Amino acid sequence: MNASLPSPVSGLAERWRGVRLRPFGLEPGDLEVDFSGERLALVSGILARCASRPGGERFDAEELDELRLGARIEGLLRLAILADAGARGAGEGDEDEVEVERLLRCVGCDATVGINLPLRALADLQRAVAAIEVIEAPTRDGGRVKLRLPRASDLRAWGRGDAAPGDEALLARLRVGDAAIASADLPAIEAALAAADPLVDFTIDLTCPECHARQEAHADLEELALARLAREQAALLDAIHRLARAYHWSEEAIVRLPAWRRRAYLDRLAREEAR
Ligand SMILES: [Zn+2]
Repeated sequence: MNASLPSPVSGLAERWRGVRLRPFGLEPGDLEVDFSGERLALVSGILARCASRPGGERFDAEELDELRLGARIEGLLRLAILADAGARGAGEGDEDEVEVERLLRCVGCDATVGINLPLRALADLQRAVAAIEVIEAPTRDGGRVKLRLPRASDLRAWGRGDAAPGDEALLARLRVGDAAIASADLPAIEAALAAADPLVDFTIDLTCPECHARQEAHADLEELALARLAREQAALLDAIHRLARAYHWSEEAIVRLPAWRRRAYLDRLAREEAR
């Protein structure tokens, strides 16, 4: 499939909301990222490493905690697209859509169904909702309730026990104004939040090719992008391993080489082994 949605800037010059992103998995600090760590800190940490302002200034992880959740997922998806472009050796302006296969299980017949997720089109979904800051949902008593969209810092405060557990406690943090939220209003509020932040709880209308059952399938896009970036880190470790064995250089020396020179040495080793 070719890119179905126009992307303002793409390829290796990918930008994320006026922010410059560099590919993950090429620089010394990228080895420090612990993919088994807590998810909120992991995502902020990766974005803080890879994102910089147009002038080159970096962001603090704390600043990235204040981004809404969908924007963080968009950033990760754009890093996954960059990783893919790097792996293909694609140049700037390369317009190919990047598809990632996801296996889902049919709720009707338990068949495994593979779907292709177009990462660039998904990341662009966030652009369409980027301007939304506050949502409004109808209440059962005929009123309306306004909420701002959740940020990572909200989830952190919530998870740490600054608010009582339960969706209602999180919604109380997000409420703008003093309209009461009744539990009967939760479905409408959740629907409005989901519409304004489509990447956060991403669902796909799926028709099973085996039993034809129609269903809504969930795909965790954050997890999907993180898995792609974990592969980049594993590839860097593989490169260090091969170069250290061949040349007896230290990890630090290898990781400080520019990526193109690591590749050049790896190519030479591969050519030698092929002889
Ligand atoms: Zn089925």
